[in-house]
Formats: sequence, C-alpha cells, structure tokens
Amino acid sequence: MTIRPPFRTVLVSSIIVSLALPAAAKTPVATGTGGAVATISEPASQAAIAILNKGGNSIDAAVAAAATLGVTDPFSCGIGGGGFMVIYLARDKRVITIDHRETAPASFTPTVFQKDGKELDFDTVVASGMSVGVPGTVRGWHEALDRYGSMSFKQVLAPAIDVATKGFTVSDNFSHLVQGNEAKFALFPATAALYLRNGKAIPAGATLRNPDLAKAYRELAAGGVKAFYSGRMARAIVDAVNAPPTAPGARVAAGKMTLADLANYEARLRQPVHSTYRGYDLYGMPLPSSGGVAVAEALNILEGYDLKAMPRAQAEHLYLEASRLAFADRNAYLADPEFVDAPVAGLLNKAYAARRRELINPRQASAQAPAGDPYPFQNDVSVPLRPNAPKLIAEGAHTTHLTVSDKDGNIVSYTYTIESWGGSGIVVPGYGFLLNNEMTDFDFSGPAPNVPEAGKRPRSSMSPTIAFKDGKPAFSVGSPGGATIITTVLQTIFNYVDLGMSMPDAVNAPRLSERNGLATDVEPGFAGSAQALALEKTGQRWSKEAEEIGAANALVFNPDGTVTAVSEGHRHGVGSALVQQRAH
Ligand code: GLU
Repeated sequence: MTIRPPFRTVLVSSIIVSLALPAAAKTPVATGTGGAVATISEPASQAAIAILNKGGNSIDAAVAAAATLGVTDPFSCGIGGGGFMVIYLARDKRVITIDHRETAPASFTPTVFQKDGKELDFDTVVASGMSVGVPGTVRGWHEALDRYGSMSFKQVLAPAIDVATKGFTVSDNFSHLVQGNEAKFALFPATAALYLRNGKAIPAGATLRNPDLAKAYRELAAGGVKAFYSGRMARAIVDAVNAPPTAPGARVAAGKMTLADLANYEARLRQPVHSTYRGYDLYGMPLPSSGGVAVAEALNILEGYDLKAMPRAQAEHLYLEASRLAFADRNAYLADPEFVDAPVAGLLNKAYAARRRELINPRQASAQAPAGDPYPFQNDVSVPLRPNAPKLIAEGAHTTHLTVSDKDGNIVSYTYTIESWGGSGIVVPGYGFLLNNEMTDFDFSGPAPNVPEAGKRPRSSMSPTIAFKDGKPAFSVGSPGGATIITTVLQTIFNYVDLGMSMPDAVNAPRLSERNGLATDVEPGFAGSAQALALEKTGQRWSKEAEEIGAANALVFNPDGTVTAVSEGHRHGVGSALVQQRAH
C-alpha cells in the first residue's frame, strides 16, 4: 500500500518530499491459501499479491516484488545489480535456478585491484567505477518471465512504477542506511539529489518519489530487455562507470566497461545444488554462489549427530563448529565454475562430511580451521592441486531476499543485491538506480580461485533454498547479509528442523554467524545472555562488535494445504508476509 503524500511539500531537485503519515503496521506472519509472499517491504509484498490476484504466477509476482523492492529498498537491490533465483515448477516437479550475477567487464585482470603489488583500499574501490560489474538483474528477470512467467514486463513492472511515481514513506531504517552512507552518496550529485537533503540523510516520515526510476522501468516495459543492455540506458551506465559523475573536487576512480560488455551479458540457467538432510530434499544455489554448497556441507556434518536429543547449547556448539568447517572449504575452493574447477562433488559427499566431523570436539570450540581435502571424494579425481586458502575478506550485511508461491504450487526463492549498502554509491544520472559494487566480492589478490578475471562472476554467498519432504514442498528460506547469508540460512534450517522451533521462531531467534574467523559474529543483546553463557562453556567466543544479521524470509507449506508466509518480526524494520486468502 502506498501512503499518499499529504500536507506540506518541499521541492528538492526533481524529487518532492513531504511529511507523511506513518506506514501501516506490517504483518510479519500470515497463513492462508492461494499464493503467499514474504519480503522485507510492504509495497513489494502488496505488488506480488496484486499480480497473483490478476492471475499471474509466482514468477511474475516475484519479479513484481523485486522491482518494487528496487524502489523501496534501493540500497539493497535493484536493476543496477544482480541475483540468484531458485524456481520450483509444480507441474513439471522441477527445480531450476537462474544465475544473473554481475560479471566482470572484459578489461578485468587478476591485479585490477592492486597497485605496485599492493591491494587497493577496500572502501575506495567500493565508491568508484572500478567496483561496478555488468548488471544482471534485468536479464535475469527477462529469462524468468520469458521461460516460466505468464506476464510481460509491462504488467509486472506496473506496481513498481506506481510506487516510484507516487512515492513511499521513508522508514527509520531507510533513513538510517542513508545516514551511514552520507559521505559516499555526497560524492555523486545524482545520488545526493535522491537521498540527501542539504548533505544529510532524508528523514524518516518523508515521502520519497523516484520519477527517474519510474522512467527507467517504463523504458523496460516498452522496450524489454534490450532497453537496458543497448541504447540510451546502456550508454548512461557505461558513462557513469567510466567517468563517474562526481561532485566538484571529489576524487573517484573510473572503471572500464564497454557497451559490448553490456550487450554480451548472459544469465545462466544452472542445475541447483541438491542435498538431503534428515528426510528433506534441499535445492539451493550452485556456483558462482557458494551458498548452496556451504549450507549443504554444514548440514551433512550435522546430520551425524542426534541433535534433538541434546541440550540446546550442545547442539548449537556443533552448529557453530560445522559452520566453521564448511566456511574453511568455501573460502579455499569455491569460485565461478566457468573459471575454476571446484571439487563440488567431494564437498557435497556424505563420506567427506564424516571425515570433517571427526575434527569436531563436542566439548571444545576449535580455533580457525584449515580447509579439508575433498578430492578423494570427487567422482573425478583427475583434478588440479588444492589451492591455498585465501584470507577472509570483509563482507557486509546487505542485499534482500524474497519468496513467493502461487495457487498452483510454483515457488520462487530469490535473493538479489547491489552488494554493499548503496552499492558503488553511483546513481545512473537520469535513471534513478544505484550501480552495484559487486566486483569487490572478488579477492583482491591471489593466488586464489576467486581472483578477478575478465568475464568472471565473483563468488557469492546468496543461498535461496527450497526444501521438499516426500516429494512435496516443505519450506523455502533465504536471507541477505553477505557471507552471513550462509549461516543465517543454515541456522534457520537447524532451528526449524533440529531445535523444533516454529518457522517464525526460527527466523526471529538470535543469529550466531561462525565463518571460520577468530570469533563468532552475534547480534546486539546476545553477549551475556543465558544462551551465550551456556555456549561459552565449550569455549565459543563472540565478536566485540554486535550488529543485526540478515533479515530472512520464508514460506512453510503446511500439511493441511495452507501456506504460512514468514518475514522478520524485528529485523530491518519488520517484514511483510501476505497470503491471497487468509485462513481463519
Ligand atoms: N555480495 C554479496 C554476495 O553475493 C551479497 C551482498 C551482501 O549481502 O553483502 O554474497
């Protein structure tokens, strides 16, 4: 629902700001029949329901919701970025995935982020043209609609165009995110005009319109995928990357992207990663996202324990240790499969998981774990030598996840992003969307599988997942949050399947993110809690800086035929779960 802009209006450049009424209360959990949706944004969930009510399927509704999130959550996602979509086609009983990850321009080399043999400063690269990968979102939406949808771009973009044109109420969360990016956004006048007021974050309660983004969406509605990858919009993207339009005096590095980079961009249809866990069949995202493999490896390790019979702290200790081991392997081996022959079959092998499990001390937390050797567990052992484990790089907590089902049982689990909050910070002038900084997901130096290369996709952590039991959909889950995406999805499955929590409880529980670092990342309020103290008895330790971790979204397909949509009860300003017909 869009809150109409009442009362006072102030004209700031082309954007009208007004003081608006507070947004209607969101419902983070809803059960019913027909289609269901969970996103972090009320207008996005409404857009999905509107499309389902018009007879669209879940693929149509997912694109409609994603396009609306591009308006209301522009710092997490948008057409300037990319993503990973897992789709279940009920009639065919088939799961497919669409990789529309951003791709390195042809100018990229393994040393693109180095100078004189030294790594460039991370934040300086983020806010520059160098960090921008060729955006994949529009090509991904096109493939999804063209192959599996039933509606046109014009139909599914209509709700997002409406929100961008009429405006939406800026939330505390939105304003807070701008605040954290004031310096980055101030570098670029087109960005500052949209999100800053006299150099400061647009306040909560204001109504924000984005007529330029409405125009960009209208061009896609009229011209389809070509309107993005060639012609005026493509030229505007390339210009913004190669000569970032900065404020006077700002020094920002240029990228090197060509019109051919855009014209040549392809989404990839990939086989999902399939794994099993305690009677569930899980389908997740394959490389270049490390999400599916890492979640599956950690669950395979956990499957060897009778977690249900244990005290919670004991089970959670094992969850943290399994996650640590899976991350050691993820960091060492996983990268774009078109460039690196990663030992995926070995990493997914249950016997390999048993070997990894032997390293876990049920009573004592381990230090940082080295990668294992999955090669003997590959079917094909004629593979290259094991690479060195690269060091951990900083990955933030951004992105968005949404999930939709329809009355026919088709399901979409979709995570998409522009990488950091606000991506590169560069709004494409005249088109109202932020360009990603996805190229900073590459390792800045090697040797490592995930070094930058021309036409390569940086390793991701996005983990959209759909689970089945006895051949029928059981639940879907996914999350934002950089590398914490993997642990959030893993922990939510562990909470739900092993600790026996309801899905809302599983989603809302405090997150513990162990990624083979020196300490486990936790959220504010966790340290000092009874749960924390119980885990400290096995030597688990927490990072000093607590931060909110990944706002997840899920669907549960109940045995009575109803669906429960589950969004966040408290993270990222509360999510929005809706169903077509509510159960009474
Ligand atoms: N770039 C991240 C990834 O693909 C997602 C962005 C984030 O959430 O930090 O894994």
